Amino acid sequence: MTDSAKKKVQPLVLHPDRLFPSDPVQRDIARRLYKHIKDLPIVSPHGHTDPRWFADDANFDNATALLLLPDHYVFRMLYSQGIKLEALGIRRKDGAVVESDYRKIFQLFAKHYYLFRGTPSRIWLDSVFSEVFGLTDSLCEQTADHYYDSINAQLAKPEFKPRALLDRFNIELIATTEGALNDLKHHAKLTGSGYEHKVITTFRPDDVVDADRADFTANVAKLGELTGEDTQSWPGYLAALRKRRAFFREHGATATDHGHPSAITADLSESDAAALFAKCLSGKASAADAELFRGQMLTEMAGMSLQDGMTMQIHPGAHRNHNQVIFERFGPDKGADIPSPTEFVSNLKPLLQKYGNEASLNIILFTLDETTYARELAPLAGHYPALKLGPAWWFHDSPEGMLRFRHQVTETAGFYNTVGFNDDTRAFLSIPARHDVARRIDCRFLAGLVAEHRLTENEAHELAYELTYGLVKKAYQLK
Ligand SMILES: [Zn+2]
Repeated sequence: MTDSAKKKVQPLVLHPDRLFPSDPVQRDIARRLYKHIKDLPIVSPHGHTDPRWFADDANFDNATALLLLPDHYVFRMLYSQGIKLEALGIRRKDGAVVESDYRKIFQLFAKHYYLFRGTPSRIWLDSVFSEVFGLTDSLCEQTADHYYDSINAQLAKPEFKPRALLDRFNIELIATTEGALNDLKHHAKLTGSGYEHKVITTFRPDDVVDADRADFTANVAKLGELTGEDTQSWPGYLAALRKRRAFFREHGATATDHGHPSAITADLSESDAAALFAKCLSGKASAADAELFRGQMLTEMAGMSLQDGMTMQIHPGAHRNHNQVIFERFGPDKGADIPSPTEFVSNLKPLLQKYGNEASLNIILFTLDETTYARELAPLAGHYPALKLGPAWWFHDSPEGMLRFRHQVTETAGFYNTVGFNDDTRAFLSIPARHDVARRIDCRFLAGLVAEHRLTENEAHELAYELTYGLVKKAYQLK
C-alpha cells in the first residue's frame, strides 16, 4: 500500500466565513456587508470563455476537457512539479502522440491536487466541485474516479448546458474576447436566442497592430479584404480598423482590449506614423520600430474610442511565452507567461497629453507589476479623468493580491476610480467562485475601514454594492 492510499479521504466543506477577517469585530461587519451583495448578478466584462459554447449550447464533453485543458493555471503548476504537458493531453504542434485518455489525465491531476494548497486555483476548483457538482469528499487519488464519473454524468444533463449554467450562475452579462479579424459567427448565431445581450464580444486588435508577429502583414492584408479598404496605406488601415470596431459593436462589444508587452504610447505626426506603418509592412521594422508602432496604435485607438464610445482596456507587462521550448512544442497560452516590470508615468504620457483630460473617455489600466499601484497607477487614475484602474489581474487575482490592490490604491485613487471585478478566465465553471472571492475580499477590506471608524457601515454597504455591481456597469457602459 502506498502512503497516499493509506491517507484518509477528507470531507470537502466550504466554510461560510472563508476569506473573512479572523478578528471577530471585523468578521461580523464583513458578514453583514456580504449578506447584502452575495446574490447580486454576475457581470463579467472581460474574459476568455469560448463563444461557441453559448452559440451551440451543446453539453460539455467531460471533466478533463472542461475543467483542466483550458486552464493554464492548472497545468503550469503541474508542469512546475515535473509533470509533462504531454501527460496532461496538451496537443503538440508537431502532432506527436500525447495522452488522450481523459480519465487517466483526470487521475493524474487528482493525485497531484495537493500541489494547489494555498493557491487561488484550489479555492476556485473546490468551489466548483462543491457548489456546481455537489461533491462532498475532497479531490485526491482515491476519489478521482468518483469525481470523474459524477462530473461527467452531471455534464450530460440538460441543466448543465452552457446557457442553463449562465442562468443558474446568475450571469447577467459575459464578454468574450476576439481578434480583429474574427467573423464573430458564434455571436451572430446568438441573435434571436435571448442570449445575444448576455454574451457579447470584445475587440482585441493585437493581431493587426503588432508588427512583431510573424503573421502581421498577412493579417493587415486580410483586414483590407474584410473591409474593402486599402490597408497598405495608413489612412486606409485606420479606416479599416474603424469599420471592424463598428462590426464588433454590432455584436454587442462595448470595449476594446490591448495586450501589449509595455505601456508605451506615442503621438507621432501623420507623416511619421505613415512612414513607420510602411516600414512595419515592409518587414524591415526593428524591435524598437514595432514597439513604437504599438505605442502609436494605442493612441490611435484612444482617439477612436473617443469617437465611438468604446471603453479601452490596456493590459501591459506580460512577458509572453517566456519558455521558448514550450512555445515551440505547444504554442502560446501554456502557462509560460511571466510578469515583467512595467512603467506607466512616462510611457502613457503621449496618450494622456492628447486624450487624458477627456471625461467621456474610459481607459482602464491593468498591471502585473504591483510596485506601480501606489507609485504610478493610483496617482494617475486619481488625477486624469480618462483613466480608471482595473482590478488585481491574473497572478494577482487572488485573496492576497486583491487586498494588496485595495490597500495600495484606495487612499490615492479612491474607490470610484476602480471598475469592479474581472474574472478574465477561460474556466467557465469557476466564474461564480472567482466573483465570490472578490466579493468576500472587498467586504473584508471594507469591514476593516468600518471597524477603524474610517467609514460608516452605511457607506460600506453602498460601496460593497458599487464594487460588486455599480462600477463595472458604468466603466464598461453596460445598460
Ligand atoms: Zn484577458
